[in-house]
Amino acid sequence: MDDTSKAGIGTKVIHAGQRPEPITGAVMPPIVTSSTYAQRSPGEHTGFEYTRSHNPTRYALERMVAKLEGSDLPEELDASCGGFAFSSGLAAIGCALELLDAGSHVVSMDDVYGGTNRQFQRVRKRTQGLEFDFVDMTDMSKVERAVRPETGMVWIETPTNPTLKVVDIAAVREVVKSKAPNCLVCVDGTFTSPVNQRPLEHGADIVMHSVTKYLNGHSDVVGGVLVTGDPELAERVRFLQNAVGSVMSPFDSYMTLRGIKTLAVRIRQHNASAQEIAERLEKHEMVERVVYPGLSSHPQHAVHRKQTAEGGGGGGMITFFIKGGLAEARAFLEAVRVFTLAESLGGVESLIEHPAIMTHASVPAEMREELGISDTLIRLSVGVEETADLMADLDRGFEAAKGAGTSAVAAGV
Ligand SMILES: *Cc1c(COP(=O)(O)O)cnc(C)c1O
Repeated sequence: MDDTSKAGIGTKVIHAGQRPEPITGAVMPPIVTSSTYAQRSPGEHTGFEYTRSHNPTRYALERMVAKLEGSDLPEELDASCGGFAFSSGLAAIGCALELLDAGSHVVSMDDVYGGTNRQFQRVRKRTQGLEFDFVDMTDMSKVERAVRPETGMVWIETPTNPTLKVVDIAAVREVVKSKAPNCLVCVDGTFTSPVNQRPLEHGADIVMHSVTKYLNGHSDVVGGVLVTGDPELAERVRFLQNAVGSVMSPFDSYMTLRGIKTLAVRIRQHNASAQEIAERLEKHEMVERVVYPGLSSHPQHAVHRKQTAEGGGGGGMITFFIKGGLAEARAFLEAVRVFTLAESLGGVESLIEHPAIMTHASVPAEMREELGISDTLIRLSVGVEETADLMADLDRGFEAAKGAGTSAVAAGV
């Protein structure tokens, strides 16, 4: 058994919950693709019966993420120490919602990931009769007003996408537990990874990740996880993971575990590079405004510093508003070469996107306006390339953007 409970996160990402395979000594877990396992006598088995319920490769990943998030559930109490892997981030969110009875009341952050919003509003309202209130949880009085004694779940996402609002998890928990002691506090921590932020340490009951993003980090797996440190909650999630059945495949589990080995070095590079880029953008003549939790100009910078490990690492996501209008934004996005124009985030390669046209097109125009997702908002996922090359690339974009609006008019376009 590994003994990494006191180790730093850079050691945990390599060893937590791992041990050599007993027969060969293989240091990485074999990809066990078998759907079923031989029994010696009816009901007498090794602990593995059927892969939806038990799979050693998935368990290896699940133990890893559980320990990275700080769950201290021992394997004797829960086979995967409170970690559960799913076929996507949205499948993980779906499983969390299955903890609720039909008709329950849920309070959600207003600016949640578009797919989360869609599942809440367009699926769960109809199929589970859930009632949702969306509130800006950076304002604690709004949380106070929205939570009722019978509220079943509070869904926090922090930082949010793409406006990077930061929610004080411990403060929300305090308000929630005083008004609704049985209410579950769930945190979507996708944007930070457990290297930068560990919500269970701030009082969350469940943390969720789209492992598609930073945890896997190589843009070649779609997956999700839930982690809890509470034994009773772990038992309920384990039951639902098997009963509803959207489990992560053994191959994707292996790939994700492989990606996680470099999570700490990747995140440290994302933090350092994005901080430098954000500071430079803030001074650029073509930039209206930069939103980055690591900047002292960020409205919740103090909460961010309190809640974040790694000396307040701001993560790899930067949002900024370019001067001008859609023409300037478009010219900028077309000119960059190192940043790839694509949806998604959290990989080793830098991506750039235009939320109003791309990831958030499904959000109604008036709600986009309310959230501040304008035509000049550009979102960067800063990868781990050389910072100097990324800066030079952004300069190329700004050169192309300069006067893009007026030249279009002059050319009669
Ligand atoms: C991508 C994402 C999800 C959904 O995860 P999938 O793996 O795409 O299903 C949920 N929350 C956040 C913050 C995300 O970025």
